[in-house]
Amino acid sequence: MKHSKTINNEQDENSDKPSITFRELGLPHPLLKAIEHEGFEHPTEIQEKSIPFVIQGRDVIAQASTGSGKTLAFSSVILKETQKDFGLQALILTPTRELAEQVSQSVKKFSQFNPLKIFSVYGGVSIRPQIENLERAEIIIGTPGRILDHIARHTMDLSQLKILVLDEADRMLDMGFRQDVEKIINHCPKKRQTLLFSATMSEEVIRLSQRYMNNPVEVSAEPYVDPKKLTQAYYDINSKFKFSLLTHLLKNEKSRLVMVFCNTRRNVDRLARNLESQGVNALALHGGFSQDKRSRVMEQFHSNETNVLICTDIAARGLDIQGVTHVYNYDIPHESKEYIHRIGRTARAKEEGKVINIISNMDYEDFQNILNIEDMYIKNEPVPPFTEIQLVQTERRPFARRPIRRGGFRGMNERRSRERRTRDDRRPSGGRDRRIGGRAGEFRGGDRKRSFGGRDSRDRDSGGSRDWRNRPRERSNFRKRRPRF
Ligand code: ADP
Ligand code: MG
Repeated sequence: MKHSKTINNEQDENSDKPSITFRELGLPHPLLKAIEHEGFEHPTEIQEKSIPFVIQGRDVIAQASTGSGKTLAFSSVILKETQKDFGLQALILTPTRELAEQVSQSVKKFSQFNPLKIFSVYGGVSIRPQIENLERAEIIIGTPGRILDHIARHTMDLSQLKILVLDEADRMLDMGFRQDVEKIINHCPKKRQTLLFSATMSEEVIRLSQRYMNNPVEVSAEPYVDPKKLTQAYYDINSKFKFSLLTHLLKNEKSRLVMVFCNTRRNVDRLARNLESQGVNALALHGGFSQDKRSRVMEQFHSNETNVLICTDIAARGLDIQGVTHVYNYDIPHESKEYIHRIGRTARAKEEGKVINIISNMDYEDFQNILNIEDMYIKNEPVPPFTEIQLVQTERRPFARRPIRRGGFRGMNERRSRERRTRDDRRPSGGRDRRIGGRAGEFRGGDRKRSFGGRDSRDRDSGGSRDWRNRPRERSNFRKRRPRF
């Protein structure tokens, strides 16, 4: 047995109430064995609250922050109900490929003493091997775009489906997957169990649940981040010194795993390259990388080969990364709820965590919104002495063939349009497709063929810079803005 993990077990020490055991939750025997093998001692709060209903076959809406153990909660009934050789019986939808991969690894671990045919299905990789797997699959974990592809190709048979899980539902909707998710739901049998798991509850999530769930039970758990263990600080500094200060802090703060958040893919790349030139070994992670590269980066980070990860919100959301002691906001998120997600990466499992915001005048408005969040205390730290570093000139990213311009038009518009193109937070892969002609998620009046950019670009998870290359020129914002000469 592995060493026992301590997660969210605060109540064990602080309350007289003995914590319920996994056995008491009515889990099937092979799953109990797997849980013991994993070294989990007690159910987490969300597991304790949701599993009894989940296992009864009720529709459940469960809200709990990232890292609170939601995967096991929905896996419980899947592993209990799925029968061997009866075809596809459970479908888990996740917003990104990494999550699909992560969830399928977890489900496989949980089913190790009663192995079932579990496969993950997502875009950005060849569809052929997936088709072979689908024929045998009993449990599928996948991203909405690719699942719809399979449904359209009749390579996925949902007629025997018993359980549908919407994992990270908030993220899925944020990423503009609403229509895709609805289409998938409409392909599922009416008589099914629907489970919705989410880190936050938005009106959109609630609307979705009202439409497609059957008398759902709602449960939620307290945030998993321990506010007592979390310190938050900000440095207010001229933007041209942001990088120098970050480098200074990265070199001088005592830390284990560090996540540095940027708002755009471009900033992630630029920062990683510059840190490298300063001798800070940092990994970059954003949706523009190939699937292969993203998996490699995560492996390196998990194995503690490199302790600094520079990432965008999309790329990092929901990933289970343990031992993060520092979260840096090199760019301040435009939405305060994104801030909550970012800080949730640290101060977990009884460990101390520190959040450091590096702000300059451009960030004041966004930062004010964050300070307005209830109970948010972020200390203003005096800027320590640091060595000033010149940013190295970064070569242009080879992203997308940029529109061919006649005339010498350069400047703000180009910069803006480039910045927009790389905004991971707003537009995951293919997101652009949807945005044209309407708000995210409203494009494509039902005709999939109209979505341009080839098959893969339809998989709107967080990857695929190739979408930019395939987009039709006349749709580009840039060209719309270009003055006529
Ligand atoms: P979420 O989906 O809520 O973000 P996960 O299901 O990915 O969280 O779980 C986060 C981590 O906690 C995983 O590494 C998982 O193995 C671990 N974990 C889950 N349940 C327990 C438990 N009861 N005790 C200890 N560790 C757990
Ligand atoms: Mg999860």
